[in-house]
Amino acid sequence: MQEQLLTQSPYIKVALPVPLRTLFDYKVPKAIALRHDLKPGMRVKVPFGKSSRIGVIVALSQQTEWNPDEVKPLTSLHDKAPVLTDELMSLCLWAARYYHHPIGDVLFHALPVLLRKGENAEFRTENWWFTTDLGRTYDLTQLNRAPRQQDFLKAVQQHPNGLSQQATAVLDLAHAAGKTLEEKGLVRREPRAFNKAGEKHTHQTQVPPTLNPEQSQAIERLQQHSHQFHVALLDGVTGSGKTEVFLRLIEEYVNKGQQVLVMVPEIGLTPQTLKRFEVRFNTDIVLMHSNMNDRERLDAWLLAANGHAKIIIGTRSAVFVPAPHLSLIVIDEEHDASYKQHEKFRYHARDLAIKRAQSRNIPVLLASATPSYESLANALQQRFSWLKLRHRAGDAKPPIMERVDLRGQQLVHGFSETALVNIKQTLARKEQVLIFLNRRGYAPTLMCHQCGWIATCDHCDVNLTVHKGANKLHCHHCDAQKALIHQCPDCHSDELFTVGEGTEQLETQLSSLFKDTPVLRIDRDSTQGKTAMTKLTQKIHEHDQAILIGTQMLAKGHHFPNVTLVIIMDADAGLFSSDFRGMERTAQLITQVAGRAGRAKKPGHVLLQTYHPDHAAIECLCHSGYEQFAIEGLAERKSLSLPPFYHQVIVRAESANEQEAMQFFHAMKIDLAPILPKDVYWVGPYAAIIVRKAGQHRALISLKSAQRAPLHQATQVITHWLEQATKQHKMRFAIDVDPLETY
Ligand code: ADP
Ligand code: ZN
Ligand code: ZN
Repeated sequence: MQEQLLTQSPYIKVALPVPLRTLFDYKVPKAIALRHDLKPGMRVKVPFGKSSRIGVIVALSQQTEWNPDEVKPLTSLHDKAPVLTDELMSLCLWAARYYHHPIGDVLFHALPVLLRKGENAEFRTENWWFTTDLGRTYDLTQLNRAPRQQDFLKAVQQHPNGLSQQATAVLDLAHAAGKTLEEKGLVRREPRAFNKAGEKHTHQTQVPPTLNPEQSQAIERLQQHSHQFHVALLDGVTGSGKTEVFLRLIEEYVNKGQQVLVMVPEIGLTPQTLKRFEVRFNTDIVLMHSNMNDRERLDAWLLAANGHAKIIIGTRSAVFVPAPHLSLIVIDEEHDASYKQHEKFRYHARDLAIKRAQSRNIPVLLASATPSYESLANALQQRFSWLKLRHRAGDAKPPIMERVDLRGQQLVHGFSETALVNIKQTLARKEQVLIFLNRRGYAPTLMCHQCGWIATCDHCDVNLTVHKGANKLHCHHCDAQKALIHQCPDCHSDELFTVGEGTEQLETQLSSLFKDTPVLRIDRDSTQGKTAMTKLTQKIHEHDQAILIGTQMLAKGHHFPNVTLVIIMDADAGLFSSDFRGMERTAQLITQVAGRAGRAKKPGHVLLQTYHPDHAAIECLCHSGYEQFAIEGLAERKSLSLPPFYHQVIVRAESANEQEAMQFFHAMKIDLAPILPKDVYWVGPYAAIIVRKAGQHRALISLKSAQRAPLHQATQVITHWLEQATKQHKMRFAIDVDPLETY
């Protein structure tokens, strides 16, 4: 049998994490072929150039296109079983073709970091402490003079089934004391596989509320398709009980021993979300997000892969989690842009999840209060079923939206008189105010009063943001940082002043305006570190009255029951964006932030500060709501032949030289225009809005077509051309299929 295999496949085709759209052939040495059963999805170590690399077997092959004498043998085999199952291999191969991205990079992206580096796909072992026969009945008073040993032995005596190393750390027991007790023959250690699934669930299970008619109807419709491929859009206003609906649905799968993948936006995974799952399910829940270390992520991956973890909650890359019993995928806040990776492998996790569900023949549930135009179009065309929740759950009322005309008004730190009066009244009722300003830092600009000098980034065409607390000037585009200066580098004047306001400045000013009220800022700077967000949320819940200031982080999934007033400082931001998605994003953001108001029993009030109160978009959003706004927006997209009615691919190029990227594209257009399919339209090349970013000059070309097939064909031709051309140039290019950013 193994002899047969050996003669059947003397070669393997291997994907390596290199930016080349090709597979590499290696020979299978006899010694390996005789002892092992090689399969696609297993990792191998192979010689590559002068060093060696870890790669993934994509196929076994009878022959090679190369001279067999020059094909090198693989060095070693890493796995006994594939780390990428057949299902995930085909998903990755599909994604590599669809996104025109190098296969090696795609496969490696699908693996946890430690597996990419060659770690075994096994649970780590951890030492557990047990008493010996002598230690079990040992009189603790004999250790009165060694209190640390006494504590240690007492704890181990109290845990007859053993105490993990991790648990001793949690209990603050001294490792040295354990070792001394071990030498005395009172305790012993035993290595065990670290496997969280073995632990007992101590969580309380909560009784769920009775569903309202809209929710019940949604569940009924979802149940009709519970065992086959089907995409449902759960389109429910903020606070309408969408989460409750999918919790209920998930329960049905978990009760049958099936696995469910719940995808959440990058920073939407709040401690509150997790808590809601924990109090509801008496089962293993694992998390996969960027705030975990590599080992924690691998452990979660292993628990999902062996089927123990019934619920997997994760951000974008969790779409690649192995889960043998996966039977439902839920995508919360499906409109969120963080589902799309904006660098290297530019995939959209929602779209890949749908693809995965289709090949597994299982349902997908997309949830949002502000669905993406893409999903709405699918719902309108009845490709997705459309479940609407139009009322808030429980006793909560919808918030009242009101425009505040800023024209000609006297503003105090950017606040209108109306806003200030409302803040005072809200605080006097012992309720909370939420202020939304999508700009972190103290001020977006630092300027010299004498000569007009402005602090700009050395590497990008943008101004540096002032961060007073950190005493820094910070580039929000390339992350470059400098110390905050107090003297103009051009004219040496010390009259430097800031222009514009960020959340940090609002925090300072509001703290002095409302001295007795806690002012809490929630943005990327104030929530660094694992526990920062939990601490902030705790503070918010501790106080009756408070002012919360935040960026778009606040718009995501938080539930602050005592917030009754929301102030949108600048409703006009994004209204005149050059990106055709500007309006959609603005409407989503405003609606989501507004939805934080009055989520419990108290009614909510939203003030939109604007210089354009009569702007059709602002008016439609206030009067008719998001759905109407989006339907009108979709009609406009259709008339302008824009996505989602047309399909789009953007090709980006960047180079250190100023003109190179543009010239490069012009040359490409001359070469390729005659041979590309006729129904593919080109726009460009044009320069990116921020031309220079992180020292690179950027240009792009946009391709559009009503059909996907010719667009993909054109992209393939272009990719091939670019690969050849960039061999001679120091240029980088990227293909962005279904881009979310068009500039
Ligand atoms: P969404 O996900 O749409 O924002 P949630 O599911 O978080 O809404 O529900 C909002 C609030 O209403 C939560 O506090 C939730 O516990 C509560 N809730 C949900 N459904 C019901 C119901 N049927 N009856 C009473 N309260 C409910
Ligand atoms: Zn100056
Ligand atoms: Zn920069």
